[in-house]
Amino acid sequence: MRIQLLPSTFDAKGQATLDQRLTCFVIDDRVAVDAGSIAIALTNEQRSTVRDIIVTHPHMDHIASLPIYIDDLYPSLKEPMRIHATPEVIKLLERDVFNWNVYPRFSDLKNDYGPVMEYVPIPLGQPFPVAHLTVTAVPVNHIVPTVGLIVSDGERSVAFSSDTAQTEAFWKLLNETQHLDALLIEASFPNRLAKLAEVSRHFTPASLGQELKKLNHNGLDIMAVHLKPAYREEIIEQLDALEIPNLGVMDPGKTYQW
Ligand SMILES: [Zn+2]
Ligand SMILES: [Zn+2]
Repeated sequence: MRIQLLPSTFDAKGQATLDQRLTCFVIDDRVAVDAGSIAIALTNEQRSTVRDIIVTHPHMDHIASLPIYIDDLYPSLKEPMRIHATPEVIKLLERDVFNWNVYPRFSDLKNDYGPVMEYVPIPLGQPFPVAHLTVTAVPVNHIVPTVGLIVSDGERSVAFSSDTAQTEAFWKLLNETQHLDALLIEASFPNRLAKLAEVSRHFTPASLGQELKKLNHNGLDIMAVHLKPAYREEIIEQLDALEIPNLGVMDPGKTYQW
């Protein structure tokens, strides 16, 4: 399974930087998990193949350019863009984003080939198909309804925490899964901002270190994501200080293979 954390920020020369302001993972050039930078950083090739998007929750950093992506591709879409999300999240997207005020209600619109966008409600705790992948979603502990995921291609399995603080169902799901290759988990704030992390339901390196004790698997790659750019270096130092084997930081723009 190939997974890329799309970049969202570029320097004066147009080179992607390591600052992660928006969240969008692309799996095998086919499926996106969240869509923060989807309209900004996909290659033309990927723009022709990414048609399934799992939205873990409706925060702006996870959906910022989703409406623009559909708008861009509107005339050429030969199949609808499928938005996979829980019924609660679908309701919020309809109410707050695709509401004719912020942007058009694309789920009501057609181009020459047919519908351009379709919601696919996802169940909790039950595997469901997304393109060539099998996905299981469970609620995590964030400020709005949010899911964490395990994504499998039949051979490899990778877990995505999305945005969360201390949580239970996610670890239960991971521990019940026979084999896991990687865990992509958030670490948003440095330890000195523990209060802010708590009220906004995110991890610091210290709370992440505690939380990882709930994980029974050994030897998998653990990659921190969602590092707030203002504190990136500080968070990385504090993650290193945990001395957890196989814990690293996922770089935006780089493709990882499991
Ligand atoms: Zn969030
Ligand atoms: Zn976020």
